[in-house]
Order: sequence, then C-alpha cells, then structure tokens
Amino acid sequence: MPLDPQCIFCRIVRGEAEASLVYQDSAVTAFMDLNPITPGHLLIVPNEHFPDLGSLDAGAGSQLMSVARQLAVALRRAPLGVEGLNLHLADGAVAGQVVFHCHLHLIPRYTSDGFGFRRGASGHGASRGDLDRLASLIRTELAEGGQG
Ligand code: AMP
Ligand code: ZN
Repeated sequence: MPLDPQCIFCRIVRGEAEASLVYQDSAVTAFMDLNPITPGHLLIVPNEHFPDLGSLDAGAGSQLMSVARQLAVALRRAPLGVEGLNLHLADGAVAGQVVFHCHLHLIPRYTSDGFGFRRGASGHGASRGDLDRLASLIRTELAEGGQG
C-alpha cells in the first residue's frame, strides 16, 4: 500500500517527522506516544500505510506482534518500574481510532495508575443461546473469506 504524504505515522516511518524511535526494521517501526497514557507508552506501526486492521498485510501483522512481544520484555526490564502491560488497537473511529494508519499501543501498567477499560451496559449477562448465535454468524463470515 503506498505511503500517504498526509499521514503523520508515514512521515515518522520515513524520518520526515520528529519521533523518539525505539525500534525499526524493514516491516515495522516503534516510537514513543506523544501523549502517553502512562510512562513508557509505545506505538508500533507497519512501515506501509494500512489504514485499518482489515487491510493490514499478514506479514506486517505477524512482525507487529513479534516486535510487541520483544518490546514488552524490554519495557519490563527497563528501570521504569513497569508491573504489567496492556496491548490496545483501536480499529475504526467508534473504537477510538484517531490516526488511520493501523497501529498497536503498548501501554505499561503501574499499581494505581488509574487506567482501565470500562465495561458498557451491553457487555453484561449474555445467555449461551446468544453467544452460540453470534459465534455462528462470525464462523459464517470466516468461512466466506473474513480471514482476508
Ligand atoms: P489512536 O486513538 O489509537 O488512533 O491513537 C493515536 C495515538 O497516536 C495517540 O495515542 C496519540 O497520542 C498518538 N500520536 C499522534 N501523533 C503522534 C506523533 N506525532 N508522535 C507520537 N504519537 C502520536
Ligand atoms: Zn500512514
């Protein structure tokens, strides 16, 4: 997928915009988030401009997760006091995606850091019947090519 000259993450990958780089290879780049949720908050992005998770190349996706694992180990070893981590990927505006260049957040966690996911009302008390019906709908799409 071609680079998007308007995209801030494409510009960071190419070294055209300022960033505090942590890692770069031929497929992915990792750098410090400009507005960290907690100290050490990193972003890992594919070097190519894939706007969302569905368009992400399978090879770049694998490397994204492989590098996330290595960075998670490095974050825990670094003298920051990291006690845990959350991985977060916002896919779509309703999910909170603001930068439409697919990216994975690595958010270090500290006791009493105040961060957390909040459950909405629709997330409670599904019956087995509801769960089986939804599982069936998703399996159908997967069989029809939902794997990309
Ligand atoms: P999202 O809501 O998942 O699209 O998150 C976008 C993230 O990109 C936010 O956490 C921003 O703080 C971060 N961000 C935006 N611009 C930059 C930048 N120039 N350098 C580093 N992080 C950025
Ligand atoms: Zn981009």
